[in-house]
Amino acid sequence: MCLHDHTPAALPASAVPRRGVLAGAAALAGISVASLAAQLGSAPAAKAAGNAPHSGRPVPPPPMIIEGGTIVDPKTGNAVEDGVLVLEEGRVSAVGSRDETRRAVAALAGRARMVDASGRWVLPGLIDVHVHANALSDAAAILQGGATSVRSGSSSFYQDVALAALPEWAAGASPRMSPAGLFISPELGDSLLADPDLAPLASLQGGVTEHTDLAYLTRVNLKRGAQVIKTRANPRAGLAEQDPRELVYGYDQLSAVVKAAGKAGVLCHAYSAEGIDGAVRAGVRSIEHGVFVTEETISRMASRGTYFTPTMDAITSMAGSSDPVLAARGREYTPIIKAAVRAAHEAGVTVVAGTDSFGSDVTPIGTEARLLAEAGLSPLDALRAATVNAAALLGWSRDAGRLVRGSYADAVIVNADPLKSASALEQIGAVVAQGVLVRNNP
Ligand SMILES: [Zn+2]
Repeated sequence: MCLHDHTPAALPASAVPRRGVLAGAAALAGISVASLAAQLGSAPAAKAAGNAPHSGRPVPPPPMIIEGGTIVDPKTGNAVEDGVLVLEEGRVSAVGSRDETRRAVAALAGRARMVDASGRWVLPGLIDVHVHANALSDAAAILQGGATSVRSGSSSFYQDVALAALPEWAAGASPRMSPAGLFISPELGDSLLADPDLAPLASLQGGVTEHTDLAYLTRVNLKRGAQVIKTRANPRAGLAEQDPRELVYGYDQLSAVVKAAGKAGVLCHAYSAEGIDGAVRAGVRSIEHGVFVTEETISRMASRGTYFTPTMDAITSMAGSSDPVLAARGREYTPIIKAAVRAAHEAGVTVVAGTDSFGSDVTPIGTEARLLAEAGLSPLDALRAATVNAAALLGWSRDAGRLVRGSYADAVIVNADPLKSASALEQIGAVVAQGVLVRNNP
């Protein structure tokens, strides 16, 4: 029940246009398209280049042919030895055996950049479904770790919305990003400064908790370009002074967020049994962390199709913290999250790979895949958690997570067989993002 009426039900006609807010976010993220162009050697002002096929658009990177490696399809588990992958204009134009790709390769004679993958494995670009990227340098660190697509778990000033706009203008500067914008949480803190439309929320006693306020904040986020909504059921585990088993938002409040988010869908930070179950019943698309999930909630997740992002690296690495409270928490939670992942996977819940990396302190996505395998997923299922299944969660199944004709020109080359051990995903030899070779250590 709403006892106050100071939040406008409808969004105001903002005095600051969306691009004004985004210009601020881009500046915070350290983005200048002109300087990026110089750095990457591409030219966003395509008209000036003279050979642009269409006006005002960036020139796509030159074609690339990756040959000689074993190309793995995470969906089927099939592997094509001595395979060829042809990338043109930001998409896969041909993929398969030398015979199957002969024509496409011949058509590019002399024009394509050749990458030798012999003795190695070629995979679609990996996907990290939980990162917090606030700056261009964070985006670069994510790419170096092998993730070419990510779902943002929120940023303080919409920097993720600004980063998400980059691939279109400066190929290879940032992973493809599904941005969450601002965290839907009671305390907005400095984020209130990010957007004049948040002014009505600044004076709320006890923060953003009423249904109308939650819906309002969600709608402001969507208006600014958030493609997904991030909220919470519980406090943070990574702060010693917070108890992640207390409740922040219950079923009713989370339902208000889910309703306002509509098709964008909601990812929900949740630790306690009650918090996780409330979020699942409210209809969130994925549970983030989820340490104390019960058997009953696991079966609810399986039947509703709720995804599970256990962020195993973030939880288990607390054990190494210099803070004794966090170290104890890490030791307590590690066996619990492992058992939860195994139980959820066996019950048919789709487990996906998210590192909860913050800023430029990026955990390579392959490490999360390896931890999922250690919890009980097969190497192929761990690979799927960071490819096809993650793409399905983002709604990007047609474009990402596989290397098929027409999919994104995003790939990683690894130095060991990912179908034998998920630790192969930590042995990154090369990363191709949006058709650009952004990492290469032969
Ligand atoms: Zn997070």
